[in-house]
Amino acid sequence: MTRFANFCAGPASMPTAVLERARDEMLNWQGLGASVMEISHRGSHYTQLAEQTEANLRQLMNISDDYAVLFLQGGAALQFSAVVLNLLNNGTADYLLTGAWSQKAYQEAKRYETLGLGKINLVATGGEAGFVDVPDRSQWQLDDAASYFHYCPNETIHGVQMFQVPQVDAPIVADMSSCILSEPIDVNKFAMIYAGAQKNIGPAGLTLVIIRKDLLDRASAYCPAVMNYQNQLDNGSMMNTPATYAWYLAGLVFEWLLEQGGVEAIAKINHAKAKTLYDAIDGSDFYSNKVNPAYRSIMNVPFQLADDALDKVFLAESEQAGLLNLKGHRVVGGMRASIYNAITLEQVQALTAFMAEFERKYG
Ligand code: PMP
Repeated sequence: MTRFANFCAGPASMPTAVLERARDEMLNWQGLGASVMEISHRGSHYTQLAEQTEANLRQLMNISDDYAVLFLQGGAALQFSAVVLNLLNNGTADYLLTGAWSQKAYQEAKRYETLGLGKINLVATGGEAGFVDVPDRSQWQLDDAASYFHYCPNETIHGVQMFQVPQVDAPIVADMSSCILSEPIDVNKFAMIYAGAQKNIGPAGLTLVIIRKDLLDRASAYCPAVMNYQNQLDNGSMMNTPATYAWYLAGLVFEWLLEQGGVEAIAKINHAKAKTLYDAIDGSDFYSNKVNPAYRSIMNVPFQLADDALDKVFLAESEQAGLLNLKGHRVVGGMRASIYNAITLEQVQALTAFMAEFERKYG
């Protein structure tokens, strides 16, 4: 069966080998005569899977025992609230805005300020310039005693990526939904990392939280039990029924990633993919990407055609060529190629070959 190159921003392309294995195991998992999605999360087979999946993630990201790893539901967007309810602690939180997602996180956090749970401080925003750059560090307005500093290292919609962890005193909370496992990071620099699964981890329905255990003691009394990190840790992320099938698939993706040589190996491919695509864009007068080259995302590459009247033609013809989901997000327009871990260099090369041919025809 043909599988096309799927550049969707999320839910995103999965490694074919993972889907094949899931298919093969679908009806009868581990000889149980039932699918993994049909068994109890409290049984020994499933708890073993859960433990192995966490162990593999710890290995992939080099996560120490100082950190809890939680497999939750609700998407990254629920974490916009959960972070506040678990960590604000009637203090002030710093928010740096570099794109649509950190802006949404900030707006959600602001609601709790209105409710009197603390103060949400805008550090700086790249919004006035259209989120094509990271505000210069000299302009950041940090709170000296902030409970935490929140940012989004990779902005999925605007294609802005911060490759260095900001040097701030406050505990750093990062929304890594669209860059987790794409290249090595030093987890020890973060107080907390969260990520929706549907890009580099697996299907939608699962949200990963990695949090330093010493930060688990400050949740607000208003924090719902399912959102309370200490509570979820005490219950092995099974305070209520977890997203068992998504968790299983994440486990298969982690195994696949280990077989590829881990995050170091995939990072080399990711950088090669991104370079191939940005070189194609920069080498032409027909395509453009507005992001400051120092902050161009290696996962999400928005680009514009010289004439946006050609957008529809580009999308129709690329789809015919087996290159799917290249439509840019509505707030940016144009095109966007999301090139997460499951996208191969060959698929990116197929895209750049198509782009060159399209330019020759219409440019
Ligand atoms: N943060 C980032 C960086 C994202 O890309 C997304 C989804 N595209 C979200 C948060 C929201 O995630 P979810 O849909 O899982 O709530």
